[in-house]
Amino acid sequence: MKSKILIIEDNPQNMYLMTYLLKSFDYEVIQADNGREGIRLSREARPQAILLDIQLPELNGYQVAEELRKDASLREVPIIAVTSYAMPGDKERALAAGASGYIEKPINPKTFIFQLQELLLSHQPGAGEGA
Ligand code: MN
Repeated sequence: MKSKILIIEDNPQNMYLMTYLLKSFDYEVIQADNGREGIRLSREARPQAILLDIQLPELNGYQVAEELRKDASLREVPIIAVTSYAMPGDKERALAAGASGYIEKPINPKTFIFQLQELLLSHQPGAGEGA
């Protein structure tokens, strides 16, 4: 079964690039271009992981992460914040809001998939937080 990834991102170039990279590694991709749509699709499509931009219309990435973590059925899904290199405070805030990890923008096409896979491996059920 293909792993399903939801991308919540309002920048068309970033959306295109992440989608292209994921599909070329055989992931199934679902797209949302604003925070509210991202929450709706998280509930409806049950992705195995969520890539979450921070600067988003409707609800920002922190609000989206907080909302998803309130939902018991989505509490375990890895949320990977895609944060701007130029905004150092973003990472800490994203983690505090419930993100499992982060990948920095600009997205590096050579390393993006490997960064993602490494983050997902460390957040598999049973990987044991603090064990
Ligand atoms: Mn954005």
